[in-house]
Amino acid sequence: MIMHKATEFRLEARPHIPEAIEGLEVLANDLFYSWDHGVRSLFARIDLRLWQKVEHNPKLFLRRVSQTRLNEASEDRAFMAEYRRVLSSYDAYLESGPGAGVLEALDPKTSLVAYFCAEFGFHESFPIYSGGLGILAGDHCKAASDLGLPFVAVGLLYQQGYFIQTIDALGQQIARYQSHSSDELPITPVERDGKQLTVSVPFPGRDVYAKVWMARVGHIRLYLLDSNTPENNADDQALTLQLYGGDFSTRVSQEMLLGIGGVRVLSELGIKPTTWHINEGHAAFQILERCRMAMAEGLPFSAALEAVAGSTLFTTHTPVPAGHDIFPRDLVAHHLGAYVEDSGLDFAEVFALGSKNGDDSFNMTSLGLRGSRFHNGVSRIHGGVASHMEGDIWPQVPARDNPIQYITNGVHVPTFLAPEWASLFDMHAPTWKSELLNPDFWHFIDKIPDYHYWSVHKALKQQMAEYTVRRLKRQHKRNGTGHSVTERMARQLASPEKDALVIGFARRFATYKRATLIFSDLARLERLLTNPDHPVVLVFAGKAHPQDQPGQQLIKVIHGLSMQPSLMGHIILLENYDQAMARRLLSGVDVWLNTPEYPKEASGTSGEKAALNGALNLSVLDGWWGEGYDKTNGWAITPRDTGLDPEFRNREEARDLLDLLEQDIIPLYYNRASQGYSKGWVTRSKASMKTITPRFNAQRMVMDYVRNYYQPATAQGKRLTADGFNLATELAEWKARVRAAWDGVSIHVRGCVDDQCAWDESVELSIGVSLNGLAPSDVRVECLVTPECAGTHAEPGPDRFFLEPDGEKDGQTLFKTQVQPPYPGLQTLRVRMYPYHDALTHPLEMGAMLWA
Ligand SMILES: *Cc1c(COP(=O)(O)O)cnc(C)c1O
Repeated sequence: MIMHKATEFRLEARPHIPEAIEGLEVLANDLFYSWDHGVRSLFARIDLRLWQKVEHNPKLFLRRVSQTRLNEASEDRAFMAEYRRVLSSYDAYLESGPGAGVLEALDPKTSLVAYFCAEFGFHESFPIYSGGLGILAGDHCKAASDLGLPFVAVGLLYQQGYFIQTIDALGQQIARYQSHSSDELPITPVERDGKQLTVSVPFPGRDVYAKVWMARVGHIRLYLLDSNTPENNADDQALTLQLYGGDFSTRVSQEMLLGIGGVRVLSELGIKPTTWHINEGHAAFQILERCRMAMAEGLPFSAALEAVAGSTLFTTHTPVPAGHDIFPRDLVAHHLGAYVEDSGLDFAEVFALGSKNGDDSFNMTSLGLRGSRFHNGVSRIHGGVASHMEGDIWPQVPARDNPIQYITNGVHVPTFLAPEWASLFDMHAPTWKSELLNPDFWHFIDKIPDYHYWSVHKALKQQMAEYTVRRLKRQHKRNGTGHSVTERMARQLASPEKDALVIGFARRFATYKRATLIFSDLARLERLLTNPDHPVVLVFAGKAHPQDQPGQQLIKVIHGLSMQPSLMGHIILLENYDQAMARRLLSGVDVWLNTPEYPKEASGTSGEKAALNGALNLSVLDGWWGEGYDKTNGWAITPRDTGLDPEFRNREEARDLLDLLEQDIIPLYYNRASQGYSKGWVTRSKASMKTITPRFNAQRMVMDYVRNYYQPATAQGKRLTADGFNLATELAEWKARVRAAWDGVSIHVRGCVDDQCAWDESVELSIGVSLNGLAPSDVRVECLVTPECAGTHAEPGPDRFFLEPDGEKDGQTLFKTQVQPPYPGLQTLRVRMYPYHDALTHPLEMGAMLWA
């Protein structure tokens, strides 16, 4: 007998939105909701249960909500008053113009920044992000909107996005992908002649098409490409299915759509950026497409590249090799073949852009760096690390002098600051929202009475505890964990009267983040956590990439520890970390822990979010914390020398961590006087909030980008392309001439410099140069002076003297200068020479340099 199972049909009866509240649809289609608490609470007020069930997704909410609830809301006076207040604050936001700082740097009528990234993390309802990079890109867009920057963003629409994580009873991560239909996402089709705009990119033997969607982010627009369109074959339709899914072939194809297709979208829409920001290597193919466009105007490749690179900024985000796309060269040759042929590019030139250290792979970071003249890392430490890692692009230039600089990441305050804190700030300093670039203003935090300050933290901690317990129970019920075990796991957090110290650790489970470092001395840790007078709870969460087995092993280890009877309740592991969970944990824990392996944490941003919310950072001095820590605002673990044995380093740093917990953190937290909280703790928490909020926020970050890069790149791009690309052409020809001659150029010290002189005298420095056909004006000769006590590298700056050409002798061109010793006593003078042209963006961009 065959049992026939009935087919189930699902039917969604969509309500009509009453006219009186039809603005809800507008609000649901603008990611403004991702940072405006007022908008989100409107939806929550209509039907809280449904709002939670649809995971804070406004568009899905409006499809599923009952007609009755909508009708009731539209007739409820209190609701309607709030609705009108929210709508008018939305309108006021949209009407506000650019800030003064922006206007000084960029004219919105003639300048536009295009920002390309493979992921964007705005909100949990829009799952096209995996971790820090995406959240940062989302924050960048939000701050660009707040500042009124002329800005447009480009990315990919992943139908399934990143995976949903469950952790089973054995601690194994299970990755599940869920498709999202476009009408449950905050996007609208970009229409052209009554149908959705598509662009195409030549692939081997076919064109691949992408539909174009637009997401509104307040003042700005994000365009997203989606290959799921009937013009494509089934495989191509699936290209944009998953973020960081598939194999190399999928990745190259996705990146072709993002880089090449993305530029085509802007062209189709008549959008003409003046500065291009490539945020991480995934989007670097845009350089080829922009070169192709310039070549279509009759330029040779070399001049096209100068024109393109001069208006381009490339940001690198990680020193970890897995974070850089390095593709086999034949794979790139195969995928790009039709495109390269079509566009008149030359494979040898394309490969040269993507080569690194002469190996035969294609490196997207190298492409990004060679196709841009502005480059940065994302913290002071990371800028230095990136200069070394990528130093091969400028082979003769010492790493510290090469053009890679840094802008430290910041976070979007309205998104990550809990509304409870925002209300407290409103009471004490009503203009705080417009003071995010003004550190002095933030001393107002000290004026908030301690008890009031602490009561806000306590309320948020309570919400975090309830949330954590709820999630924990749901997860373990599904896994079949017994009721009494689950109760024991929740025991510490579910007892508000204990007010246990809670430490959070949530981020991607990548091995360099060393999630298990704190367990290095388990017996000691157990004593610290389970002291009945001073209990401590550790809360962990995070996803490991589905192909990262060691990362998944970390999850297993933590799961195992959380189930160990002696630690139960003191170690908690939550599944499916996303932005909603991040907001809860970050704003509710007492301490935010980060233990990366120095110097691999390029910046890290979750600690910044924690600090805004009064949580104290306990972190290895790496990434942003290397700049943020000032001894009063958290705790630091000093990394051991990277040359040491990794196990030894781990052990030493873990001991520092436990020492800090035992000797400083736990005693300070539990030093509660009669008022029920620790005065010393509140002082430290306030120091953290007031020093970190105005320095590590996304508005400060974006303004740094505007001043250091967007403005100069716009100016440089205009200069190079003016008058039919005149200067770009001249520069390319000059570089070719210099490159051909450089191997035959040499530099010699002539005549001895006196080895002694009086403090107020000067010495003559004379250098002879064989220029191999170049003109004296094609080079710069400079002398660097360092005091003997400084490091081995000279820092060019005030102690730098240029040598001037001064005739010829013995077939050499002479360069001379008078040097007056800038330091007393012994100092080192070194002379170097490099090619120089006025049109260069950075004086050392050619990477050529000779030392005398
Ligand atoms: C902020 C954030 C991150 C990045 O955190 P790091 O500390 O930089 O690792 C990752 N995921 C989510 C959901 C975040 O909100």
